[in-house]
Amino acid sequence: MTHRRGLLIILSSPSGAGKSTLAHMLMDWDPTLAFSVSATTRAPRPGEVDGKDYRFVSEAAFKQMVADGEMLEHAHVFGHFYGSPMGPVKAAIEAGRDVLFDVDWQGAQQIGRSALQDHVLSVFVLPPSIAELRRRLESRGQDAPEVIQKRMQRSWDEISHWDGYDYVLVNDDLELTFERLRTIVAAERLRLPQQPGLVDFVRRLQAEFAKEEQ
Ligand code: ADP
Ligand code: 5GP
Repeated sequence: MTHRRGLLIILSSPSGAGKSTLAHMLMDWDPTLAFSVSATTRAPRPGEVDGKDYRFVSEAAFKQMVADGEMLEHAHVFGHFYGSPMGPVKAAIEAGRDVLFDVDWQGAQQIGRSALQDHVLSVFVLPPSIAELRRRLESRGQDAPEVIQKRMQRSWDEISHWDGYDYVLVNDDLELTFERLRTIVAAERLRLPQQPGLVDFVRRLQAEFAKEEQ
């Protein structure tokens, strides 16, 4: 009925709190969501697909993308570069599609200050406890012990930015957290600025109303 303005849905959390899991659940729920595939200089984990989970690039290629102004945001995390290419984001937004980002607090801040800031919906995911965060990182079974240690050490830095987000979810029970995330997205899509087509719709209602009154 009405044309919708695309949202930039940003998910951040300390590594291991569950944001990738929630992002996948959100995309299964709504396949029209476009995932912003970040470019990174880190090596792929087992099962990660180039072009789907990340674009795995060399440091030189990454720096060239930044120099060419191709990045909406970028940051240095855990000793590697990560960034969100602008092109696919713009294309999705222009088509009225929502874009999902899995980025750290630096990325969230940069997108929040960009020209697209009015489209942003940011959600921070907290773990139920630090012990559980460690357990999840270990149970994921994809990182070496020293990598896990590095991620645990940086987790407080990430958590300390929790209050800069629109919504905060404590990911204890996964299904419940997902239910809440889905509710947030569904509600945000109905906010007045996200529905610019409503102006014409209400004009048509007004015209119909005027006719009835005659
Ligand atoms: P992140 O993307 O934040 O680094 P992941 O989504 O990879 O984290 O989740 C880390 C691990 O924790 C994964 O093995 C995932 O299956 C598990 N996990 C995620 N959410 C929950 C939850 N609510 N309860 C138990 N395990 C979870
Ligand atoms: P991982 O290596 O576990 O996939 O990601 C490590 C961290 O980098 C996570 O906090 C993730 O959200 C963040 N990250 C992934 N892609 C990007 C990106 O494009 N930009 C920024 N700023 N952070 C990212």
